[in-house]
Amino acid sequence: MSAILPGATLGVVGGGQLGRMLVHAAQRMGYLTAVLDPDADSPAGRVSHHHIHTDYTDIDGLARLAGLADAITTEFENVPAPSLEHLAVARPVRPGAAAVAIAQDRVREKSHFVSCGVDCAPYAVIETDEQMALVPPNLLPGILKTARLGYDGKGQQRVSDREELAAAWESAGQVPCVLEKLMPLDYECSVIVARGQDGQVVHFPPQRNLHRNGILAVTEVHAQNIPEAPARLAVNSAIAIAEGLQYVGVLCVEFFVLSDGSLVVNEMAPRPHNSGHWTLDACDVSQFELQVRTLAGLPLTAPRQHSPALMLNLLGDLWFPDVDTAGAPRGAQAPVEPRWADVLALPGAHLHLYGKAGARRGRKMGHLTLTGDDIEQVRSTADFAAALLGLPIPLSE
Ligand code: ATP
Ligand code: MG
Repeated sequence: MSAILPGATLGVVGGGQLGRMLVHAAQRMGYLTAVLDPDADSPAGRVSHHHIHTDYTDIDGLARLAGLADAITTEFENVPAPSLEHLAVARPVRPGAAAVAIAQDRVREKSHFVSCGVDCAPYAVIETDEQMALVPPNLLPGILKTARLGYDGKGQQRVSDREELAAAWESAGQVPCVLEKLMPLDYECSVIVARGQDGQVVHFPPQRNLHRNGILAVTEVHAQNIPEAPARLAVNSAIAIAEGLQYVGVLCVEFFVLSDGSLVVNEMAPRPHNSGHWTLDACDVSQFELQVRTLAGLPLTAPRQHSPALMLNLLGDLWFPDVDTAGAPRGAQAPVEPRWADVLALPGAHLHLYGKAGARRGRKMGHLTLTGDDIEQVRSTADFAAALLGLPIPLSE
């Protein structure tokens, strides 16, 4: 298939912040964009040329999207795979429904990792009472995760013994789950790869990630952040996982590095990822530009990181500080806007806000990337930014 050139329209199912940053990248390169999202005020819909607000399964909405767009992608992994199959009859859809369906289901996802020769944490599938009775004791303590529809730590429960496991499965409504052994994590990292239709693969350097309460809080990327052996293994594993799917698009693979130095894969996201947002400000080609290129069938070039980077996620909690500017406790009160002007006085501070109207605790409102000449300088600027914003310090584990 020949490339879809600027001037054409690129479509995306989903109107969140990932769609918004894709729309920005596409428009910068001269594409028109069409977003399908049921929310009339979605972050991506607000900045797109076309916004279709229907449900993701609405046949009429999908037909309108296919009528407007020359190629279509998605920005969140829980988009119904049948909708993608439906769109694929009319237009190129990248990544394809089959790959997205595997990433939506932890059971299928883990079998795919194993088939690619990449180790996961020990786990058991729990779909029936029999499987529950046969759970090996060495998986406890563990984390029970619903096979489908989990994100940001939702759909997960920590369990220490069989009784808690049974209660947790009960409270999850006995839907299909996996029980994963609780691993001794030294740290977490992720790798973003992009694979073109011709099989060409490029990747970003491995990103070191810190989660708080199951949500990504900090990503750091610089030359010494991950030792060479796990870094190389993570990159090779991510590429093998993409190739095993015959994947076309941007794929993020998350890993755990264990206390003995070994690496296991956690999960994958069939799209750009929160841990890759730093690429907008610290690389010559961002993860969103690579998404545009893979979608349009344009050549891929290996991205070059030109600056060390540290990204802070900005959750809605920042709008609800415990104390006011004079240090007095604030009760439950109206949200207050964080100190953006002070943050932007810091050198190498790049503020990204997603245009979401209502700040809520745990809601991803934006991110701040700090860049500079060396990682010490970047970290110290990040500490200042965190203090101004009321984020927990230190920023590393
Ligand atoms: P995401 O927002 O990344 O999609 P998620 O809800 O799919 O999140 P996971 O990535 O499976 O959840 O887990 C969230 C976090 O919980 C991990 O990044 C890690 O910090 C911790 N965690 C998950 N599984 C394990 C495990 N087996 N052992 C130890 N910690 C774990
Ligand atoms: Mg995760």
